[in-house]
Amino acid sequence: MRCFSCGNTKQSQIKNLFGHDVCDSCEPTLNLYKDHTIRKHITSYERKREAVPEDPTYAQEVDYRVEAMEEVYIRRRLKLLHIQARLKAMK
Ligand SMILES: [Zn+2]
Repeated sequence: MRCFSCGNTKQSQIKNLFGHDVCDSCEPTLNLYKDHTIRKHITSYERKREAVPEDPTYAQEVDYRVEAMEEVYIRRRLKLLHIQARLKAMK
């Protein structure tokens, strides 16, 4: 395992978070939310939904954002991989 951010390979300092290897030093830099922050977000979304019930719940919004972000990531990666392949072919 190798930290995706700094390249650390000390296995005792690395954990897997949702399929990505992260070291103990880099994990705090991810600024992951504590449960109380997530609860605040849920409350805020529920308040908005009182006025506009067809709006997504917080959980639906998070699901949507994960999917949309993955699509953008794949598009950008494909673009770069294509450039890499073209650079090799054009040599
Ligand atoms: Zn790291």
